[in-house]
Amino acid sequence: MASETALPTRIERLSELAHNMWWSWHRSSRAVFTSLDYPLWSLSGHNPVKILQDIPPARLRQAAHDSAFLELYDRAIGELDSDVVRNDHWFARAHPNHKNRTIAYFSAEFALHNSLPIYAGGLGILAGDLLKEASDLGLPLVGVGLMYPQGYFQQQIGPDGWQQEVYRQLDFRSTPLLPVRALPGGICSPLTSIRLGERDVYLGAYLVRVGRVELYLVCTDVEGNSPEDRELTSRLYTAERVRRLQQEMVLGIGGVKILEALDIRPEIWHGNEGHTAFMMMERIRRGVEEGRSFEDALDKVRSSTVFTTHTPVPAGHDVFAFDMMDEHLRGYWQMEGADRDALLALGQQDAATHQFNMTAFALRTSAKSNAVSKLHKAVTQKMWHMVWPDRKEEDVPITHVTNGVHLPTWLAFEIAELYDRHLGKQWSAHSDEPATFDKVRNIPDRELWAARREVKQKLITAMTLRAQDCWASGRCNGQQALAMGALFEPSSLTIGFVRRFTEYKRPTLLFQDIERLKRIVKDPWSPVQIVFAGKSHPADEASKRLLQDAYRASLDHDFFGRIAFVEDYDMHIARLLVRGVDVWLNTPRRPREASGTSGMKACMNGVLHLSVPDGWWPEGYNGTNGWTISDESLSWNPEQEDERDSVALYELLEQEIIPLYYERDRYGVPHRWLERVRSAMISISPQFSARRMMKEYVEEMYLPLLEPKLPPR
Ligand SMILES: *Cc1c(COP(=O)(O)O)cnc(C)c1O
Repeated sequence: MASETALPTRIERLSELAHNMWWSWHRSSRAVFTSLDYPLWSLSGHNPVKILQDIPPARLRQAAHDSAFLELYDRAIGELDSDVVRNDHWFARAHPNHKNRTIAYFSAEFALHNSLPIYAGGLGILAGDLLKEASDLGLPLVGVGLMYPQGYFQQQIGPDGWQQEVYRQLDFRSTPLLPVRALPGGICSPLTSIRLGERDVYLGAYLVRVGRVELYLVCTDVEGNSPEDRELTSRLYTAERVRRLQQEMVLGIGGVKILEALDIRPEIWHGNEGHTAFMMMERIRRGVEEGRSFEDALDKVRSSTVFTTHTPVPAGHDVFAFDMMDEHLRGYWQMEGADRDALLALGQQDAATHQFNMTAFALRTSAKSNAVSKLHKAVTQKMWHMVWPDRKEEDVPITHVTNGVHLPTWLAFEIAELYDRHLGKQWSAHSDEPATFDKVRNIPDRELWAARREVKQKLITAMTLRAQDCWASGRCNGQQALAMGALFEPSSLTIGFVRRFTEYKRPTLLFQDIERLKRIVKDPWSPVQIVFAGKSHPADEASKRLLQDAYRASLDHDFFGRIAFVEDYDMHIARLLVRGVDVWLNTPRRPREASGTSGMKACMNGVLHLSVPDGWWPEGYNGTNGWTISDESLSWNPEQEDERDSVALYELLEQEIIPLYYERDRYGVPHRWLERVRSAMISISPQFSARRMMKEYVEEMYLPLLEPKLPPR
């Protein structure tokens, strides 16, 4: 944006490169910014827009004459141009009839990079990875989300282990956000408005370029709105119900109107999770306003709508009492085509409750609905049976598209280089084909182990530096610095428990038998380190206590400094951790994990997954590519389940995992461990790539709607 240093003509497209998130998943482009100014790259938190703001003009002038730099620059610009301009991507080749269609993808959060902190967790990561993959495949997709100027909170842990939330106003100038139709100097300018209660709330939008894909983020911080309305979307996932409802109206109703204001006319509308259900509502109202009967309008919306649900527990779905809906939709109900009773009925969970369930509404207004893993599909069919009461449970029309992750985003540089050498340069273009990864078998053990060690060293260096910074800044005392992993070292087996802190994920399962854990961790011949990271929801005291328990273990002298807690889990920390630990631990209470994706990222990097059979893991585990804790039986009470699973976990660690890791040849290479590492990389990479996922969405969810014959409902 405006305040950037003027760029020398020879390298003037640096700004364009920085303002397209494409840079974040292309090594050529990252190389441009790291070589431009490495200290600034680091200090800015890997933020090219900020680098261009802060860089001394003399350095830019110098770079414009530096042939080595220019070579990197030209290569990155060349790649960007050819990727954005060419029209022979997979989608155009596979489905030429549909290449000019538009698919709108609505989501309450998008995680593209840590420099744009408008995400909380897995749902956002999935949406961000999906946009990047859509760009890679040349899919005509446009994203719609909300702009949260304060985003989700930053986490700091106090000396007593209690989580503190810090909200910071985003400095828009150091983000890749491009205001849509803003007046000069303006940030977000009104493009349209929605009725909220009795008033109009004006909406503007920012554009984020994600390769070829455009993402529009609706914002309410525009002129004409009251101060409260300007703050309406300031934070993500507030616990206040009213604010939630209002934000979802802005996303759904507002998103439809923003696309219209921009003259974007989607033929497929995909809602990611129930937060987006007002998108369907507004389109039904439009249909009636245009003269259709309610039934026809509903049919028309349904026949062009896809819905993905992610939440396997009833309490996780947004439900608003009719009274509350009436209060905030009062003005909306007065608009032409808004048939209040009929619309509310579509969201009613059952006749007895006057509650509007966003997911039930979305399911009833979509022709195609899916869960996000095979196991989650069965859970979802059972949970939403009441929407189709006259069908058998297994005939409830909800399918599954198992989540996947965007390989270029999550794969360590060191592993990608290894693949370049051994799989051929084209491996990433074929990342969903199992044959691509067969050649991983040919990578010599010593090379693979060297790459694994390098990635792990990077993690431990980063942890140490953070501890150092915290200590040096005066914010941390010595104990806190140790708790951040200052005593970690790279040769010990390192386990990561890294995820949202919440009861069902059982972050403290490992502490079930604390003495046994101490024996495991302290063993002088086979030491074990455990690193925790993750946030608790600000309003969830119980989870904060779990977090505190994990933190206290890191302060316990008896653990020898081998337990650490890394603050402020975000995409940056995630990248370091999913690549750098040896074992990725996943212990949700079954079947609460719809899919989970962090374990996929770990496996692709050769980190071994140690997981209960929940979410995606039953589809991924093949007996040689990680470990499954415990059996598949479900009928236990929570205490028994914890007891059973923790014993199984200790046994696996003591009898199998730790001995395998420390079984070395005379050069220190653990051959049998690496067999598992290889198996994980070969089996998980193609099957759980975002590429496989995106192609399934296209072929199983979108195309049936674009092609005339609709499946029966
Ligand atoms: C991948 C990722 C998640 C999702 O992790 P799960 O625990 O597997 O659901 C959440 N947050 C961040 C920052 C991630 O990178």
